[in-house]
Amino acid sequence: MPLPIVPPPFRDERLSSWLERIADVYLVSLDELQAHVGWSRFALQLEREPVQADFECIAAATNNSVERLSAMTFQDAPSRYRRLLRSGSRESCPFCSRGLPRPQRLKGWSFAFTFWCDRHNQPLFGSEMRGVGTLGDEASARRGSEILHHWATGRDRSVVPVRSVLSLLLLPLRRASPPAPWELARLPLKRQHDPTIRSRPRRRPVLIVVVPEFTHAVPIYDQRLPSNIANLSDAPWAERYALAIGVARVLKNPVDAIVRILEASDEFGRQKVMTLINQWPQSVHNAVDYAGPRSRKRGTAAKRGDVSRVGRERARTLC
Ligand SMILES: [Zn+2]
Repeated sequence: MPLPIVPPPFRDERLSSWLERIADVYLVSLDELQAHVGWSRFALQLEREPVQADFECIAAATNNSVERLSAMTFQDAPSRYRRLLRSGSRESCPFCSRGLPRPQRLKGWSFAFTFWCDRHNQPLFGSEMRGVGTLGDEASARRGSEILHHWATGRDRSVVPVRSVLSLLLLPLRRASPPAPWELARLPLKRQHDPTIRSRPRRRPVLIVVVPEFTHAVPIYDQRLPSNIANLSDAPWAERYALAIGVARVLKNPVDAIVRILEASDEFGRQKVMTLINQWPQSVHNAVDYAGPRSRKRGTAAKRGDVSRVGRERARTLC
């Protein structure tokens, strides 16, 4: 039997968001609405793995078509895009949701590198926003977000593959080591001397060279950057935002980025970086060699400061 009142879905609204808003009309939880209507799979799962019988059940209860419900899921999204979805994301746009008792959640906002509402051009807000005030460079973040969206939907035309740039940013810059005293300065004094915090080795990813402001936004003891791309969708807002900035900066000038990374890395990190960028276009290798051969071999350039500025400027013209 159809439900008497069903609010219409918003453009691009997720199925789970709409069902939650229907449940609100009847002052019940989503689980209680599910039990009443009779579909079997959880709404978040239905968005990824649709079940025809469940769709028919919901369609009958809401006077909708199965096709319309299907369009509210991610079933037709490219596989790479699906892997970068944040199913449980609660980000919303205060302008889109003005006057609503529960903000709607749109499909596009679930992508790991979406940070703005495309309708109002305003930042999305969620419950996990640490580091928001410190990470700036909105222009690079927007550019990186666009590049990552193109890549996830199979429209990557970058000279250096975006996947490889992401992998580069997640690589260790140096062997993990305990934090230096200045890296703990923002902790209360008592915690600074906590042996479990002082002695625990911390990863230092390449990202902190390309986006040094990330370390100011999120102290090293609080960083939750994944070590590989597969877990990117689980990363907090600041980590994903910093990665978007990093992707834009590396692709804007790959040679300059690589030279700076090699200067800052130890032998452990340098080997990993070199193994990765060996798959990059030859023109980038040549320009890196030209710009900083010493840093590529032994990292001595950073100590002597002899990667010439002229070399860097000329290298920019080569790629
Ligand atoms: Zn909006």
